[in-house]
Amino acid sequence: MTGPDLLGALAAGHDPAALAAPASRTGAEAAAPDGSPVCSRRGCTAPAVWALHWNNPRVHAPDRVKTWTACEEHRAHLDDFLASRGFLQDVTGLTAPTSREDPA
Ligand SMILES: [Zn+2]
Repeated sequence: MTGPDLLGALAAGHDPAALAAPASRTGAEAAAPDGSPVCSRRGCTAPAVWALHWNNPRVHAPDRVKTWTACEEHRAHLDDFLASRGFLQDVTGLTAPTSREDPA
């Protein structure tokens, strides 16, 4: 018998794009009211320290890059989620905005 659970889940009509949506947000990166980014994981409101850049070639133009933010705890979860589907392009650290007005 082959993994019926996995196959069932894959065949159950779940759109990867829908699955990929961590929350009912539309486009913009998640951010706390004070403007600091929070984790994109559904239900998580921890401060984000990572940015995961990804693209779903089935629904996004090749030059479209979506960004999820992740706290330390959920970075691996979101990373795995995107990487396992071939969506993940890059992961970068979010640095605290110590110098917004960076002189050129
Ligand atoms: Zn989180």
